[in-house]
Amino acid sequence: MRLAILLAVMLAFSAHAQVERRDHAITASGLSVAFPGGYACEPISSPFASLTRYDNSVRRGDRNGGLHGGMDLSLEIGTPLLAIADSEVIALGEGGALEGIYIWLRSTPINSGSPFFVFSKCQHLSALPTLKVGDRVKAGKVVGLSGATGTVGKHYGPNGYAHLHLSTFYGPSDEYEIKGRYDSMVSGKDARLDDPLILYLDDLHDLPAIRSLPDERKTVHPAVAGNDGRIYPEGRKTVWPVSCKERTKR
Ligand SMILES: [Zn+2]
Repeated sequence: MRLAILLAVMLAFSAHAQVERRDHAITASGLSVAFPGGYACEPISSPFASLTRYDNSVRRGDRNGGLHGGMDLSLEIGTPLLAIADSEVIALGEGGALEGIYIWLRSTPINSGSPFFVFSKCQHLSALPTLKVGDRVKAGKVVGLSGATGTVGKHYGPNGYAHLHLSTFYGPSDEYEIKGRYDSMVSGKDARLDDPLILYLDDLHDLPAIRSLPDERKTVHPAVAGNDGRIYPEGRKTVWPVSCKERTKR
């Protein structure tokens, strides 16, 4: 009898844990971004955990409780997308609606300078990248070109919405499984979906603490690639995923 109760409790716990891993509640990080002076960068058109799309329309409630699972940058088709840190390509292909052509990268803590293994996904690419699974890319190098794949029809209309959707998962392990109908979902072991801006925080140690940072630490200052691909400031491990225009000569 006692064994039966113990088993029931264990089963209930593991079922709960699975639900949490698959679809934990996401919340806004409270972070915002400021770019280096002299650089004009595409602003975030829909931040992580936003209830609205780039056009201020309200998101569908059946995905992440209506909250945005990544950050969007509106981009012209064919804009180069850059590796956010030194990374390894772990998956790429064409997914379904609202996903399009995607590429997944994995960065180690040494790569990203954070305590986490970071699994990042760029969506809606215009074409399959020329990279292969297992290829390694340096921070700021081109991993694909932006597009509107997966967005044509329904809300976004016949031309779709050309943008980068970047999702980031943070976890303690390099292990992952590939899941989903299109093999398009990388599930990092115990990894959590959270704001891509977290990548650009200094001295990050745990995800919950981000929500209680003092206001003066809630603005992140990413390094950016300029017109010639040079990264400014130098020496950072993470880079903004799209290059910026230099307004003035330094
Ligand atoms: Zn998005």
